[in-house]
Amino acid sequence: MNILERYHAMDYAPAPEARSEADAWLAARDFSKALFIAGDWRAATDSRTFDTEDPSSGKLLAKVSDTNAVDIEAAVAAARKALPKWSAASGYERAKVLYAIGRAMQRHQRLFAVLESLDNGKPIRESRDIDVPLAIRHFIHHAGWAQSLASEFPGRKAAGVVGQIIPWNFPLLMLAWKIAPALATGCTVVLKPAEFTPLTAILFAEICERAGVPRGVVNIVQGGPEAGAAIVNHPGIDKIAFTGSSEVGKIIRKATAGSGKKLSLELGGKSAFIVFEDADLDSAVEGLVDGIWFNQGQVCCAGSRLLVQESVADAFIAKVKTRMGRLRVGAPLDKNTDIGPLVDRTQLDRVRRLVEEGARQGAVCWQPDQEVPQSGYYHLPTLATGVAPANILAQEEVFGPVLATMSFRNTEEAVELANNTRYGLAASVWSENVNLALHVAPQLKAGVVWVNGTNMFDAACGFGGYRESGFGREGGREGLEEYLAPGEPHGPVIKPSSTPKQAARDTESHAIDRTAKLFIGGKQVRPDGNYSLPVLTPKGRLVGEVGLGSRKDIRDAVSAARACKAWPEATAYNRSQVLYYLAENLSGRAEEFAARIVELTGASHKAAKSEVETSIERLFWYAGMADKFEGRVHQPPVRTVTLALHEPVGVIGIVAPDEAPLLGLVSLLAPALAMGNTTVVIPSTTAPLVATDLYQVLEYSDIPAGAINIVTGHTAELTAVLARHDDVDGLWVVAEADICARAEAESTGNLKRVWTGHGRSLDWPTAQGEAFLRRAVEVKNVWVPYGD
Ligand code: NAD
Repeated sequence: MNILERYHAMDYAPAPEARSEADAWLAARDFSKALFIAGDWRAATDSRTFDTEDPSSGKLLAKVSDTNAVDIEAAVAAARKALPKWSAASGYERAKVLYAIGRAMQRHQRLFAVLESLDNGKPIRESRDIDVPLAIRHFIHHAGWAQSLASEFPGRKAAGVVGQIIPWNFPLLMLAWKIAPALATGCTVVLKPAEFTPLTAILFAEICERAGVPRGVVNIVQGGPEAGAAIVNHPGIDKIAFTGSSEVGKIIRKATAGSGKKLSLELGGKSAFIVFEDADLDSAVEGLVDGIWFNQGQVCCAGSRLLVQESVADAFIAKVKTRMGRLRVGAPLDKNTDIGPLVDRTQLDRVRRLVEEGARQGAVCWQPDQEVPQSGYYHLPTLATGVAPANILAQEEVFGPVLATMSFRNTEEAVELANNTRYGLAASVWSENVNLALHVAPQLKAGVVWVNGTNMFDAACGFGGYRESGFGREGGREGLEEYLAPGEPHGPVIKPSSTPKQAARDTESHAIDRTAKLFIGGKQVRPDGNYSLPVLTPKGRLVGEVGLGSRKDIRDAVSAARACKAWPEATAYNRSQVLYYLAENLSGRAEEFAARIVELTGASHKAAKSEVETSIERLFWYAGMADKFEGRVHQPPVRTVTLALHEPVGVIGIVAPDEAPLLGLVSLLAPALAMGNTTVVIPSTTAPLVATDLYQVLEYSDIPAGAINIVTGHTAELTAVLARHDDVDGLWVVAEADICARAEAESTGNLKRVWTGHGRSLDWPTAQGEAFLRRAVEVKNVWVPYGD
């Protein structure tokens, strides 16, 4: 072909990245000793190995040590041993180590990129320009956090030994997201990469040796689900940080229930890519290419559901098809490649199966007319049109290069379709009208929203999901919280409440008999079962009866809380005024509440009065914070502002303690309300009349119907119903240990955010502060680019 012919063909010649250095590294290493424990390289105790292969050819890259439970034991012991010194080291000392890691990675940047592409199959352009630089940025960014930790998070301590389990789609980047904040906060780690992609973690362990990471601070083990489960179940681990599928996330939630382990889950997604008719369609097409075909679609936040406004749908789809025809499917190490192979044969089979099933359910699946390489696990980019909202391609995470498209007529429909998923990781909104985009972003149930962009990440900006996409954030301030021990002041261990012995008649009171009911949707209602529970004094004297709430009452209460829009949509200033008013009204009846506490708990009048006074003061404080605990604006190193917005979690179930029946209740309820959540409260079992007295105050305090619902009854039974209810988004439980454990174990249906005292109470007089407000919000990061 002469130059003129080449010019007319406008085709790409191969531009392969050199792999000699990576091959030399592979040849020189003994992968049968691939476990990095206490600073040494070890073989697995039973000498088992597993294969890791090049997905573009299926050829073996290495046989890597496969960890068993004995090796995990050694790794946890090493991390435990290293913890005291590392967590006590000065922030500056830890910062220097993080900085050294970042710099050492920079010196071997290309080797990391080539190895990552060899092991995972991702195009070298991506590993070279995105994965590796972002991983490095994470370490350098967190060096600063290590040094400023004491001033930015005063009094907070490291969570301890952390078990970290990561997936194969961004092996090095996920490692960086996990290890950098852990080291910054003074934790020590046992990290397990995914079994398909062990290599860059091994190179990273070499970097740790060179960067002066003390022995045992970073331990890297290898293997699959068995090794992962051994980490999850190890009693010597204080926190589990997991990134992977929602399915395994749920297993881990269940396995850690009742263990007291802190947990963060970064799970799957089915993110919406929303194109409004006034979008710059050509830019949106380019965004879509990044959104769904980046890393072959094996991206948790892939924009795998295209929602396009009907008026431009045909034109847009035509442009997408044209662009798809130009995507280059080929060898990962070719610098011109857009789409490489999927990570493994099993993943390819899964994607094919889902596409077939989607087509069977009515979707029309289109692929560009292109050759795929003969060997390797390649799948052509695929566009599915005519996708019904219930189609498997619209609901299931495919984790491959498959785009499901749907159209919408107006903004409401776009939001409804976008939120019609059990996931809530990310979304992209495309419109030239920034007012529209910023109107839509807060309505999307997703942890990250990109306006006129997609797949933007930065170490300073939190990343993580709503709903079944998991909980916790990685990156920035929120990410550090995940590696710090909880800040609340603990109280005593809660003992199981004994069944009242005898209900003697109250012969002292001459008041007219009053029936305490449940409080649901702003109304006093009788319990569905029409049974009551006796309320006794500590000496066994009967002072009243409350409704015995049941599953049906909890369901009604949750529906009322879900239906209440007036409270979450009220301005923070408005919520603040209502909470002030509630405090004012409670103060008007302070004496009455103090007398009730004396009667039900046997507390001295002075102590009861103090409990009421502190409750009023606490309400006042949260009223004041309602419009002050705000989000932040980040300025990542791209032309974008990132708005870290505080949004309510949603419907929160609150299980209040027996001790301090008013103050305990107010301490949990007030922060939830201040941040705009609606609530279902299960009050103290021994002193429920304090809560039923409170609803009388609520009735004239301008609290909208449904914002607070109170269901009295047996705590264990009602808590379990709340835990299993998929319309409850958060659950806070202060109760005996097995009620807490059960709440965690049974919350997996929708992966609600569960916080418990793990069988301990809090020190109620001091249980106030930002820790409670933080728990009452989800942080949504909205990325807004600027410039031409
Ligand atoms: P996976 O859940 O199968 O495996 C993830 C990790 O967990 C691997 O290291 C695996 O060995 C380990 N594992 C598997 N079973 C386990 C068990 N029972 N106990 C403990 N560990 C176990 O996920 P995958 O296929 O490797 O990764 C793809 C998934 O990861 C997708 O769902 C994707 O959306 C998700 N992901 C999420 C994020 C995020 O930040 N939200 C980022 C990347 C990937």
